[in-house]
Amino acid sequence: KPVVAIMIGMAGSGKTTLMQRLHADLEAASSAFYSINLDPAVRNLAYEPDIDVRETVDYKGVMKQYQLGPNGGILTALNLFATKFDQVLSLVERRVASETPPAHVLIDTPGQIEIFTWSASGAVITEALAASLPTVIVYVIDTPRSARPVTFMSNMLYACSILYKFRLPLVLVFNKTDVLPADFATEWMADCEAFQAALDGEKAYIGSLSRSMALMLDEFYSQLRAVHVSALTGDGVPELLDALQTCAHEYQESYAVDLAARR
Ligand code: GDP
Ligand code: MG
Repeated sequence: KPVVAIMIGMAGSGKTTLMQRLHADLEAASSAFYSINLDPAVRNLAYEPDIDVRETVDYKGVMKQYQLGPNGGILTALNLFATKFDQVLSLVERRVASETPPAHVLIDTPGQIEIFTWSASGAVITEALAASLPTVIVYVIDTPRSARPVTFMSNMLYACSILYKFRLPLVLVFNKTDVLPADFATEWMADCEAFQAALDGEKAYIGSLSRSMALMLDEFYSQLRAVHVSALTGDGVPELLDALQTCAHEYQESYAVDLAARR
């Protein structure tokens, strides 16, 4: 069975660029894949998805029709698309059952993270996929913008909330390592004290709160994998593909069982 990878991350973290990179690299490796664009508002895609939300709903039309701003338009467009997601899923399943089944199903989500993560449509789409195929959350992080201890912590807390919301295996992807290597992240994740020291240096937070959050994050880190990637240069992509396989196994072992129990 293929592994479904859902790209989630802050606006500008590089989800779409990573999609493009995976397209190029998998194509070069002659590895079959299937891809879906769920961002109704993206202008130009540098890759060609098999399914594109923009072909089903026109978010600008939705904005006019329902008198919404851009965010409301994107959210509503995605909601409309989600109501037809069973059709999308059967297209995916048909490809999976074909002579050339994809090894990966890649999914791009809207730029603004909350549109997918805190909407009904995001939940509907993710649950439909996870009920059918091994599904993994790929949490993309803008490494240069997470280099300050406080921004790093808030990004990790967001990732943590997503892990508990979706209850699926999660890979942290530290992207843009061509701009700044993510070694600091490895150090902070491995060594709570080192992170504390960095936080204390900033004097931006009340000591005891940040201390207990750092301890909580320590527990969170133990549940996931992190890879360092540059979507631009392709650095780290093989490690990402490995992590996806590991997560797919993890899905089979625990999440599939958990999903069945919840139904
Ligand atoms: P999205 O909103 O998460 O889909 O982010 P995009 O993929 O649109 O990327 C946002 C910006 O970051 C664009 O200008 C990209 O060219 C840039 N970008 C994405 N990945 C990388 C990377 O690995 N390295 C560098 N230097 N820039 C990147
Ligand atoms: Mg994008």
